[in-house]
Amino acid sequence: MEKHKVIELRHLTDSSFVVRMERNGLEFQTGQFISVSLNGKVDRREYSVYSGEKDDYLEVLVREVERGKVSGRLKNLKAEDDIYVDGPFGFFKFSPQTFSSKKFLFIATGTGISPFHSFVRTHRGLDYQLIHGVRYACEAYGHSDFETGKTILCTSGDDGGNFSGRVTDYLYSQRIDHDTNCFLCGNSEMIYEVFDMLTAKGIPVSNIYSEVYF
Ligand SMILES: Cc1cc2nc3c(=O)[nH]c(=O)nc-3n(C[C@H](O)[C@H](O)[C@H](O)COP(=O)(O)OP(=O)(O)OC[C@H]3O[C@@H](n4cnc5c(N)ncnc54)[C@H](O)[C@@H]3O)c2cc1C
Repeated sequence: MEKHKVIELRHLTDSSFVVRMERNGLEFQTGQFISVSLNGKVDRREYSVYSGEKDDYLEVLVREVERGKVSGRLKNLKAEDDIYVDGPFGFFKFSPQTFSSKKFLFIATGTGISPFHSFVRTHRGLDYQLIHGVRYACEAYGHSDFETGKTILCTSGDDGGNFSGRVTDYLYSQRIDHDTNCFLCGNSEMIYEVFDMLTAKGIPVSNIYSEVYF
């Protein structure tokens, strides 16, 4: 694992934050994740890269998990602290030029928005829609970095989003062109349910890509 100095921590809500660290020449393809540890030895956890391929820093978006061993300790990091990073890893990579259809649908729950933030930061002018499911509207992590009109915030715990209910409730009534490339990221329950809904709507399995967090 390589040592990276923390540049800053940006708190987005009481329990979620972005860790910006020195990039130290680490090359990744947008959509990949890194493995992070506080001591370089044990307790490594995976985090999707939130920043863009061309940024001169590296960022991850983290939600503190209750009774979690690592995420809560990451929240206490300060500028100039060292953390240890390995990677990049993973196959949830995104290069729009490799798709014959250029229509993209990004579906995330919680911090699963992170790779999509990296996608749009890396590739400007994409034809996409982002559907993001959270409990409360204050968890619209980084929405202002996405283009206006291209995001749907689904909130299951308040009425502050564009749609009150879960991502699957929103998707239920949506028509999706069959040549849309669909990317799903977040908890496994959402991913299994959305996968079934998309295939039932006629999207070929080969157009569906997923990254499971837990
Ligand atoms: C490929 C990949 C990429 C990931 N990217 C991110 C990311 O960008 N941002 C991020 O915040 N997390 C991400 N995760 C989850 C992250 O790796 C850790 O699992 C999470 O931070 C909890 O670690 P912990 O040590 O605090 O909890 P632990 O002590 O490891 O475990 C706590 C329990 O919480 C569950 N859990 C894990 N994540 C969550 C969650 N988000 N909400 C509710 N329960 C959860 C675990 O299944 C476990 O049962 C990713 C996971 C994978 C596999």
